[in-house]
Amino acid sequence: MANSYLVKPDVDFVKQLKAMGGETLKKCYQCATCSVVCPISPDEKPFPRKEMIAAQWGLKDRLVGNMDVWLCHHCNDCSTYCPRGAKPGDVLNAVRAYSIQEYAWPKWLAKIVPDPRFWWLLLAIPVAIFVLILGPAGYLKIPEGEIEFAKFFPTLLIDIIFVPLATFWIPLVFGIGIYRFVTDIHKNAVAEGKSKRPDLNIPDFLKSVLCVLPTILSHRKFSDCTENKDRYISHLLVLFSFLGLFVVTNCFFVALYILQIPGPYSLGNPIKVLANISAVALLIGVVLMISNRLKDRGENVGKGSYYDWSLIYLVLGLVVTGILSELTRLAHLPGIAYPIYFAHLVFVFCLFAYLPFSKLAHLVYRTLAMAYSRYSEREPCD
Ligand code: SF4
Ligand code: SF4
Repeated sequence: MANSYLVKPDVDFVKQLKAMGGETLKKCYQCATCSVVCPISPDEKPFPRKEMIAAQWGLKDRLVGNMDVWLCHHCNDCSTYCPRGAKPGDVLNAVRAYSIQEYAWPKWLAKIVPDPRFWWLLLAIPVAIFVLILGPAGYLKIPEGEIEFAKFFPTLLIDIIFVPLATFWIPLVFGIGIYRFVTDIHKNAVAEGKSKRPDLNIPDFLKSVLCVLPTILSHRKFSDCTENKDRYISHLLVLFSFLGLFVVTNCFFVALYILQIPGPYSLGNPIKVLANISAVALLIGVVLMISNRLKDRGENVGKGSYYDWSLIYLVLGLVVTGILSELTRLAHLPGIAYPIYFAHLVFVFCLFAYLPFSKLAHLVYRTLAMAYSRYSEREPCD
């Protein structure tokens, strides 16, 4: 006898998917063209047609915690060929955005980050924190003399705010999300017959994470795409510039607190050179991302939701204020340099504090899903 499945449609879930960029999902009439043209989908139980049925029926438990939703790289080959304009690529993107909120904690923050009504509140939080810390300490004024950002916002105060964000907040929120996510994708894969391993062996799973890293670092999957192939360069630039800035931040931390060498550092300093190269690469990467999204690829391919754009604008704000802080400092323009530096720190705070709720969280969740796909033997290890 065939397995029976009690259909429990979640109308609110469908509404939320539509609000997050999947408004075309009801147009699908199940022709399966999308699953045939997808260059990434495995032959067995391919996506995204089955996900489109689940989305139309509001089958939340079939989508949230479904590793296939994360194997999709949003290349939009499927959307281009969909005869109904159902935009399956955008629907899967909306499911991922919903899933990030579902796994994140605390829920109130997870709800306001993707909500366009609250962008001002997300910016107001760091502004209020900075003003409350700097004001009573007497720092909220433009300092006299040579421009030194530490005179305006002492490095110790920056570290008091940002070190706990990086070492406690981000690992805590991601830790909770990762535990829930991996448990769910395993349960879902076993239930749907996509995993050859009924157990979840953590050491073996971690080996799968290592095995998938070369694919992620080289962005190999993007080159399988036809429609959005040009996203390859922009994504690679953004990924490696963030890695460069991560190295730079840690080197400056060691220089300041262990080697006791305070800034500002000369432009010829190798770490400073890496910082400047990373900043320029990030700027080029973001501008390419914006131009790729704005390209006219026909009405079947969407230009992205608020959730996608809010991250792009945040990173753009971060890199532009970072570069302008440096240039206005070198040009000795204190009245402009200090306020821009303040804005830069606001953007850095937003990136750190809202990272596990933002689109950038897909880096973590997609890595885990791709690793699980290898672990479950749905795809071979590269
Ligand atoms: S999303 Fe489009 S291509 Fe895919 S099954 Fe539905 S109608 Fe066909
Ligand atoms: S967007 Fe690309 S990767 Fe995702 S399902 Fe469509 S064709 Fe496949």
